[in-house]
Amino acid sequence: MIQSRFDALPEYYQRSNRSEITVIFRSRSAPAFLLIAYLLVAIAPLALAYLQGKPSRPFGDELSSALAMVAFAMLLMEFVLSGRFKSVSDSTGIDLTMRFHQLIARTMTVIVLVHPFLYVTPHKPPLPWDTTGQLTLGLTPASLVTGFAGWVLLLLLVFSAVFRDQMPFRYETWRLSHGLGAALIAATGTHHAIDAGRYSADLALLVLWLVLLGLAVFTLVYVYVITPLLQLRHPYRVASVERVALKTWKLTVEPVGGEALPFEAGQFCWLTLDRSPFAITEHPFSISSAPAERPAIGFTIKEVGDFTRTIGAIQVGARAYLDGPHGNLTLAGRDGSDGGGGIAFIAGGVGLAPIMSMLRQLRADDDRRPMKLLYGNRIAEQITYGDELDELTNTLDIEVHHILSEPPDGWDGTVGQLDQTVLHDHFSFDGHTRWLYFVCGPAPMIDAVEDSLEAIGIPMGQIVSEKFSYD
Ligand SMILES: Cc1cc2nc3c(=O)[nH]c(=O)nc-3n(C[C@H](O)[C@H](O)[C@H](O)COP(=O)(O)OP(=O)(O)OC[C@H]3O[C@@H](n4cnc5c(N)ncnc54)[C@H](O)[C@@H]3O)c2cc1C
Repeated sequence: MIQSRFDALPEYYQRSNRSEITVIFRSRSAPAFLLIAYLLVAIAPLALAYLQGKPSRPFGDELSSALAMVAFAMLLMEFVLSGRFKSVSDSTGIDLTMRFHQLIARTMTVIVLVHPFLYVTPHKPPLPWDTTGQLTLGLTPASLVTGFAGWVLLLLLVFSAVFRDQMPFRYETWRLSHGLGAALIAATGTHHAIDAGRYSADLALLVLWLVLLGLAVFTLVYVYVITPLLQLRHPYRVASVERVALKTWKLTVEPVGGEALPFEAGQFCWLTLDRSPFAITEHPFSISSAPAERPAIGFTIKEVGDFTRTIGAIQVGARAYLDGPHGNLTLAGRDGSDGGGGIAFIAGGVGLAPIMSMLRQLRADDDRRPMKLLYGNRIAEQITYGDELDELTNTLDIEVHHILSEPPDGWDGTVGQLDQTVLHDHFSFDGHTRWLYFVCGPAPMIDAVEDSLEAIGIPMGQIVSEKFSYD
């Protein structure tokens, strides 16, 4: 059973990649462990505050302090969760990581925003004889300033993230302001918690805040200093740039000396092109070549904005830096030996990129499982690697179905979108509930495909998807 093969912990997956054997520890339980660890850290301040045994204040005060402490612990952990640590992103996948980040950020913001208004004890300076801080909130002017600054900054940070696409800023400008804003909130929040908090000045809680702040700072140093330094020692050069479809390019890089990074088919990298790795201008792209093609590493890039529109003008020989591999849109750890089902690939537009990597690796491995590819585009000129996909039907046990929403005259493929109708035509409860499903493309397409597959009766645990953008 496909379900049961996920249950082994850890699961060893061995893949022969001509010259190497990669052993991967991946388990479906990893996100649950991460979540439990996360929740434990989030409630740790409450436990430490409770252990102080201070006399209780009115309910509103205790509730407000408790919510604020949990929210602040969650905020500091957000750095680690969104800090591109492979152990996090590879086990949970970028989609889950980003959805979690957004959910937590929004919840935390609501808590922090209401927190000052829940107190009923008067906002007066500390009284010398009130040693447990029971009679006044005892906020110092400095803690009022840092509290208010953090409060406003958090509101701005979340507002600018939610409405990012409507703002007249480049993505890079937004990203820099998001990182700096978050760092400022961490600094002002820590000061406010320690200076104003009734419980936080206690040694154990103070140490917890400083450790969490230290982790947040380390994350920034890791992403913006250590990672670029490591990349500098391992540069790549552009080996070729080739137009493969309308506004779509195949960019191939190879290492300048040394080995190309090992990866699983379907993973992605942060790519810095023709710039220093310290320039903070890297972009995420799925690797579309197969691990079997290493040392060459290929990307399939669609023109959508200021960076991707320059790909066609990149010169062969230009410097490139890769941070990766990341992501869990991979077969690794999912294709056990029960031989129960086939593999379905559902791609919209340039979402074909990671799927192409998987198909190429499956071809190199001479995989005999039944497969289906549903590949949706608007017009025929957008179909990427059309000839290679045709050829794949000779080497793999695969059906390739093209779906166009605006087909040319004489089109004999499917007309429409990757919606419920099309999916019901290709997958059924009787024949495909044991298959694995890999879905990649625009966010609305992924949501529609996931809903349709669920409606057919495909268990969500067998659907792996990756979005290329987040709201
Ligand atoms: C995991 C993942 C894998 C991806 N794989 C591919 C791929 O194989 N092929 C492909 O063509 N595209 C892929 N993308 C999308 C690609 O990263 C964006 O299209 C590209 O970064 C746009 O940059 P731009 O400056 O040209 O466009 P802009 O107009 O600046 O941005 C368009 C949108 O792209 C996203 N984006 C832009 N810059 C970044 C950045 N530095 N980091 C994160 N997101 C950014 C934002 O959502 C933004 O709204 C992937 C995205 C993700 C998250």
